[in-house]
Amino acid sequence: MSAADFAYLNGELLPWNDAKIHVFSPVAKYGIGIFEGIRGYWNGHEEQLFLFRLKEHLDRYAFSQKAMRFDEGPSSRELTQALISLCHANQFRTTVHIRMMAFVDGLGEMSATGPVGTAITALPRATTKQVSRGASAQISSWMRISDNVMPARIKCNANYHNSRLAVMQAQLDGYDVAFLLNSRGKLAEAPAMCVFLVRHGQLVTPSGTNDILESITRRTVIEIAEEYLQLRTIERDVDRTELLLADEVFYCGTGAEITPVTSVDRISIGDGKLGPLTSKLREIYLSIVMGETKDHSEWRTAAY
Ligand code: PMP
Repeated sequence: MSAADFAYLNGELLPWNDAKIHVFSPVAKYGIGIFEGIRGYWNGHEEQLFLFRLKEHLDRYAFSQKAMRFDEGPSSRELTQALISLCHANQFRTTVHIRMMAFVDGLGEMSATGPVGTAITALPRATTKQVSRGASAQISSWMRISDNVMPARIKCNANYHNSRLAVMQAQLDGYDVAFLLNSRGKLAEAPAMCVFLVRHGQLVTPSGTNDILESITRRTVIEIAEEYLQLRTIERDVDRTELLLADEVFYCGTGAEITPVTSVDRISIGDGKLGPLTSKLREIYLSIVMGETKDHSEWRTAAY
């Protein structure tokens, strides 16, 4: 069974089941790969697939490879062409989640820097039900990896072992999502999302030195809050108990979009319902990513 018709691997569009790598490759042995998750939003009215903030994703993809000392791979232009040809080949007419990965292939050992392989896949992905209904969060007993251990700023495959432990604990304990604290006991992020809270009418989020991925959605939220709601975000350390005092909490990410959090450790946030600011930001964000507004067309790359 194949999830999509085609996948891209090392310069070729291959039938999904033929896109394979060797068991002995460094990526299989040690998780030596980096990746990006990118959304393509289908706009039925315009018959168009809009790739959201592709440039920023490609820039972070390049940074992750540089920080991992990978040999040079395809250029951003070549990657864009590959990604667009993949969407065409699969004839997507629905919102998709794209995964672009650079990995160390070949026969090397742990310190190998190449040959660098490239894989791109795209699969239909709708908005989760938590985006409308809200999510319950657990403060994880797992600690977020720190910058001088495994930098969260690098989007490398191996980092997601830490995320996976937290996700599994949260799910087994009956929560929707895990929030991880860092080695200083301050709020870091969720397994694939950044966290915001609203206190005294102010928008607050852990600063970039709190062991978080420099999230593109986080930056988008900061920008749209300032532009549309005249609200400047305070980037600082956040204590776990501040979440309980918050009027609103939400998390954001390419996959998660903007998801309200209605409780943390089973203690309700505010009145346990969707807050007005989260609701407004979610509405603005979704209308921009889907291309329902003409605003910020520079953030949307048309694939068709
Ligand atoms: N943190 C982590 C660890 C992530 O994997 C992601 C998903 N890429 C995010 C935050 C959100 O980042 P972005 O908004 O760029 O998708």
